[in-house]
Amino acid sequence: MLSEATNSPRLSGNRLKTTKAVEVRDAKPLNKLQKLIEELCHRTSASGGCIILSAEEDVPLAVSGSMPVPLPLSAEAENDVFSGIPHPDYPHSIHPIYHLDHVVGYIALRKPNSHSGFYEELVDAYAQLAGKELELADKTAKLQFQNEKITKKQKQLEQAINFNNNILSLTTHDLRSPLNAVKGYLELMENCLNTDQNAHELEEYHLQINKGIGNISDLVDQLNEIAMLELKRIDLNLVKVDLNWVVQEVCDVMQGPALNKGQQLKLIRSEKPLHVEVDVPKAKRIIFNLLSNAIKYTRYDGNINVQLTHDKGTARVSIQDNGIGIPESRINEIFEPFQKLQRQGTRGEKSTGLGLFVSSYLTRMFKGSLTVESEESKGSMFYLNLPLTKVKF
Ligand code: ADP
Repeated sequence: MLSEATNSPRLSGNRLKTTKAVEVRDAKPLNKLQKLIEELCHRTSASGGCIILSAEEDVPLAVSGSMPVPLPLSAEAENDVFSGIPHPDYPHSIHPIYHLDHVVGYIALRKPNSHSGFYEELVDAYAQLAGKELELADKTAKLQFQNEKITKKQKQLEQAINFNNNILSLTTHDLRSPLNAVKGYLELMENCLNTDQNAHELEEYHLQINKGIGNISDLVDQLNEIAMLELKRIDLNLVKVDLNWVVQEVCDVMQGPALNKGQQLKLIRSEKPLHVEVDVPKAKRIIFNLLSNAIKYTRYDGNINVQLTHDKGTARVSIQDNGIGIPESRINEIFEPFQKLQRQGTRGEKSTGLGLFVSSYLTRMFKGSLTVESEESKGSMFYLNLPLTKVKF
């Protein structure tokens, strides 16, 4: 018994107006279609046949026998052929393949010299089978796609949960110690005030409290920045500036902390301006993070050299220190958040393990890159590369 599709009238208009594009990329349905056309040729004694999908631009999907690839049809020939009218340029019998009430392709058969009426009905039945195969392939592909989407979402969710857990444990762990210290010093201060002790001790406690609050506020700033990055809520105010100026500003501020550790911080500016397009406070944040690391991870009396250069459309800031360096096996981890390499500075300075993550994220937002070369016990060299931009005056 022949079903709906075979009872449908042959196409009478331009098939391109009525077709829908489906694509088959998987081996399984392709193999099935190949088997179908071979079986059909065998049963009809056709010398060749093929299955063509509209989406494939007349490239056969499955071929059997000595079937010359059908020529692309002119609109006129197409009208004839799809209406079942023999055409001299196209000696094939054409049977449309339906997929959800649309024609998605056709079976082209090279007719045997003699054939019975049974022949047309049989080919139509095979065309219908091919349609069902395509429908199945389509459904499977959609299911697979949905599955992949769900797996991806699941992974993202797991990452977000991990990230939040890390933030939470980092916050509780890293906030507790400076908070406890501040609390302790406040109690000592209170005792001092009650017992009318000397001002020198009060000054010392005040200093320690300030330090503790500084640590807390640093951590809160970093966490806030991370939260913004995670929520993709970073607004960029891009302006064209000379990178020399940005780096100079940060170096001026960092001379104090470097001097405190007896270190020499030198800056070599480039001869010509290096114009880059950045959000200035965020670009300063990157340089600040790199410089404070260089100071933090370099011993007393160390040297820190900052240099600006350019090469083939790229501006480069190199920040070199002769500090403790990074073990080779861990160098790839340092741009990840919450990495295990998180180390205290050479004077016990606090570390959050977030600075480089934030810096590399911001660098990517400026279409730049952040790289590092380092040798343990010898020192490190960080490179910030940013695309140069043209400035019209
Ligand atoms: P933090 O310095 O707060 O730990 P960062 O993300 O800035 O966070 O750095 C991650 C880790 O990379 C540090 O803990 C440290 O082990 C290593 N690191 C970064 N900069 C340097 C440097 N200049 N010299 C040696 N190690 C560094």
